[in-house]
Amino acid sequence: MTDFTRRNLIAGASLAAAGAAAPQAEAATPPAGKQAPSVYRYRVGEFEITALYDGVWYRPIDEKFVRHADYAEVRREMSDAFMPEEKLATPFTTVLVNTGKKLILLDTGTGGQIASTAGSFSDNLKAAGIDPKTIDQIVISHFHPDHINGIKTKDNALIFPNAEIMVPEAEWKFWNDDANMRAAPEGLKIVFHNVRRIFADIAKDVTHYRPGKVVAPGIETVDAAGHTPGHAVFALQSGKEQLMVLSDTTQHPALFARHPDWQPQFDIDGAQAVATRRKLLDRAAADRTLVTGYHFPFPACGHIVKTTTGYEHVPVLWDINV
Ligand SMILES: [Zn+2]
Repeated sequence: MTDFTRRNLIAGASLAAAGAAAPQAEAATPPAGKQAPSVYRYRVGEFEITALYDGVWYRPIDEKFVRHADYAEVRREMSDAFMPEEKLATPFTTVLVNTGKKLILLDTGTGGQIASTAGSFSDNLKAAGIDPKTIDQIVISHFHPDHINGIKTKDNALIFPNAEIMVPEAEWKFWNDDANMRAAPEGLKIVFHNVRRIFADIAKDVTHYRPGKVVAPGIETVDAAGHTPGHAVFALQSGKEQLMVLSDTTQHPALFARHPDWQPQFDIDGAQAVATRRKLLDRAAADRTLVTGYHFPFPACGHIVKTTTGYEHVPVLWDINV
């Protein structure tokens, strides 16, 4: 008998001896059948961060998904991370920063336009008590649909009508270049078309930034090219505290932190993405910086430790205090 079952028996025996009866419910409680709001708040100095969960997409993969890696090994690693076979769990967490002066959203979620299992961002924003009209600024890390689709509804209406939209200059140039679109493989053409759908009619209102640009006091953009040509991450600092917003430097950490050299298909320049990943994860591990990753399991923040073969993501403990 394990300690656990022995304890239960003893507890049961003492209850029976005391003549206690378990409280009886009047009626069965129906299952809720839906998730409670998925919002997590934490502080970085004076900044209040709100992590807003947008759901998960189980991305079908095949032997071509990780370049130069043995597919059996990829599947084994996914199985070890309790992911379904041949479907990469791709969660989405958007970060909202309240600097004390402004509400700044770093990427916008899927807009409910990627998978039926994602699109909870708007509901979670509402549950967090935030009106989309009060968002002052949106800073985009790169132009993949899961990061920009939340700018607009399916019918092309702006979701955050008062927000200034800031995008990486290199990203704008790459995806709006018609020659690049023509040369792109068929699967990637969709991304080029999507960029036009989101930005064509608001182009004059979009601000472009270069890496190193401080988009607001305490929020600096950092070059992280490789995943896409203009991919950016964000270094936040308030007082003595820091947060590195890793964007898509490392997709699901169970695969790409543990195997930083793996080159997933969606990294446009695989070798450059590997170099960027190693550089940023090395820095996060050495400085013991708090990090958040767009595709890390919710609430997507934690720390990075270096292992003999790669890196490990250590999630934060959920704190009821902010
Ligand atoms: Zn992404």
